[in-house]
Amino acid sequence: MTMTILEHPLAADLLTVLRDKETAPPEFRQIAERLGYLLVAEALSDMPTEEIDIETPLEKTVGTQLRRPVVAVAVLRAGLGLLHSVLTLVPDAAIGFAGVQRNEETAEPMEYYTKFPTLDSARVLILEPMLATGGSLSWAIDKAKENGAKDIVAVCVVAAPEGVEAIEETHPDVRIVAATLDRELNPSFYIAPGLGDMGDRLFGTL
Ligand code: URA
Repeated sequence: MTMTILEHPLAADLLTVLRDKETAPPEFRQIAERLGYLLVAEALSDMPTEEIDIETPLEKTVGTQLRRPVVAVAVLRAGLGLLHSVLTLVPDAAIGFAGVQRNEETAEPMEYYTKFPTLDSARVLILEPMLATGGSLSWAIDKAKENGAKDIVAVCVVAAPEGVEAIEETHPDVRIVAATLDRELNPSFYIAPGLGDMGDRLFGTL
């Protein structure tokens, strides 16, 4: 498995604003979207391309375009915070949803909704901002593979070592792109130092 941590001062700056408990939902959403651009760009950095003939206003030249479709699968609900970043960078990306809820006592994933576009020839970006135990992400990857996905990158904001290890074990073929690898999961399965509950911070719930 490959894991890429964004080594970029801008990513570190944006992540710091997300970590700060004083950052309220309107700013949190904007900053998450901006950090999402850097994460998505990295997640697509090894995309195959093909040459196309075009004409600039001056002359004929050869350009490149992506050779595969891009699909994003938002793991509900926090994954919605990265969705606009994908759609801004790749407007024709198709979007899937993976509705999974964490059982607060066992931290096991419980499915409540899934809907996927065609996945088989696409680069599939699974948007799971908080990679904690890895249970939800592993479940979403299982579902995507059952639906034909073969080329999957997990896009995370904060990853915990426990979650990375779990994905390494269950899905060694999946690359993880994250803005940071944090210290640990705490006894309530939150990532420390982390940024709290990403869904709550995005949507103002408690
Ligand atoms: N989900 C979150 O939103 N935050 C965590 O720290 C762990 C899981």
